[in-house]
Amino acid sequence: MLGNMMFQPLLISSMIEHAGRYHSDTLIISKNTDLSITETNWGKVRNNSKRFANVLNSLGAKLGDRIATIAWNNHRHLESWYAISGSGMVCHTINPRLFPEQLVFIINDANDKVILFDKTFLPLIKAVKPMLKSVEHFICLDAPDAAVKEQVPDVQFYDDLIAQHSEQFAWPEFDELTASSLCYTSGTTGNPKGVLYSHRSTVLHSYGICMPDSLNISARDIMLPVVPMFHVNAWGTPYAAAMVGCTMVLPGPGLDGVSLANMIDTYKVSVALGVPTIWQGLINAAQQSGTKLESLKRNVVGGSACPPAMMKVFKEQFDCETIHAWGMTETSPLGTSCQFKAKHQHLSDEEKLQIRLSQGRPPFGVDLRITDEEKSTHEIERDGKTSGNLQIKGHWIIQNYFGKAESALTADGWFDTGDIATLNEDGYLKISDRSKDLIKSGGEWISSVELENMAMGHPKIAMAAVIAAIHPKWDERPVLIAIKKPDADLSEIEILGYYADKVAKWQIPDKVIFVDSIPLSGTGKMLKKDLREQYGNVLLNS
Ligand code: AMP
Repeated sequence: MLGNMMFQPLLISSMIEHAGRYHSDTLIISKNTDLSITETNWGKVRNNSKRFANVLNSLGAKLGDRIATIAWNNHRHLESWYAISGSGMVCHTINPRLFPEQLVFIINDANDKVILFDKTFLPLIKAVKPMLKSVEHFICLDAPDAAVKEQVPDVQFYDDLIAQHSEQFAWPEFDELTASSLCYTSGTTGNPKGVLYSHRSTVLHSYGICMPDSLNISARDIMLPVVPMFHVNAWGTPYAAAMVGCTMVLPGPGLDGVSLANMIDTYKVSVALGVPTIWQGLINAAQQSGTKLESLKRNVVGGSACPPAMMKVFKEQFDCETIHAWGMTETSPLGTSCQFKAKHQHLSDEEKLQIRLSQGRPPFGVDLRITDEEKSTHEIERDGKTSGNLQIKGHWIIQNYFGKAESALTADGWFDTGDIATLNEDGYLKISDRSKDLIKSGGEWISSVELENMAMGHPKIAMAAVIAAIHPKWDERPVLIAIKKPDADLSEIEILGYYADKVAKWQIPDKVIFVDSIPLSGTGKMLKKDLREQYGNVLLNS
């Protein structure tokens, strides 16, 4: 027997309608590309998103079409997000820090029909445009600007387009499993892979992140998502914010510590979210100016492990609770967040810090396990000590990559994250290592395998390994460990120069260490773990 309750598909359009109706006058503060500030609100964001939905229709975009954005966190980007997904198209957010060839690959792979871009990224658009196969319309997220038009003659301007269209638009109703947005994630080798979210997964993830034991977001919050909208949809915050009707402070291109401290103090931000590198910049700026960031009650740190010292500084100098969270593009991203249970209330500060340094426990809606071998299905003990492969399943976890028919899951339906971790009996997760050969520098991935392959292509190198070394500012940076060919005369400068035309500048290793041998496993694989143990700290005192 079925229940007798209404069925409504879980659709993203219902979130912006809710925010527009019940939180109409709640402010959205947005820093533009020219650093001016626009003050708008959920009512106007809803209305403009409907205008832009009419624009997309007038351009001939259809259900399921991919509409790309290359943009900062700002109000036009937010409006267009709701317009795109709300009208059944797929919002493909693009990371502008990708190497141009990767950018071309993902735009062609996604078959994007329209690209929306901020003025900042005009040079990028100009450079890649001739290589794009599917894009029919280029829209600059700004008011008309002759300088932009001169460089991209067929460009249209967002402000012009929405002014020409009505705010009357009936959001279409469709299956909640319909695709809503697309983010690409770096692979260890080869091209990035797309993760295609659905309306259902997005709405359920939004409920998940608002819960008190997750990020605890409410209508009383003033939220500053520093994490970009092109990084796993700013961790889902633009959706969660509409769901609860909180104020958003969108930092635009101002991601440096001084700009962030000013935004926090001026707009009384209560919760901010970003990767550790961002927080280091904020701490430095606040310490220099002397501000106590009084309004800031919580900051959410994810993307990389939060250094203990950073958490202490936030607590002791700024009276701000750090919520440590773990997740990935494939998990929407929230997998865990670190909040206490009732039984932890009476622990000492030091004991509490130890818990807070873990990545926390999963919210309802996702499940975690640790297994003993790569892609194995054999679960090991939840004892907080035995580490293994972290696997996850749940309502907002990937099933297969975009355009790939084969499942991304283990034989029994779990997603193997590539992280090595422990779980304790309460489900608190501690990430201890990474099995995927990737280095995370300031929130961006670098493939160690690709850097190794390039080094191996150098005529004077016999063997090369690239490891993630701990870095005080960027969390991790690549270090190349190389064996020279017999009698080869090769310097660090020469090999670093060799990388210059092969990878983006920020991906070039920070250091080269020449060695006589690299430890190998029984099957001839380089023992990267041993190398990390030996050389993982070489950048700390340099
Ligand atoms: P991405 O798909 O780019 O969001 O990266 C996801 C990966 O970042 C995870 O698989 C982890 O390796 C790493 N990561 C994310 N959050 C944390 C965290 N709190 N602590 C340690 N590593 C993290």
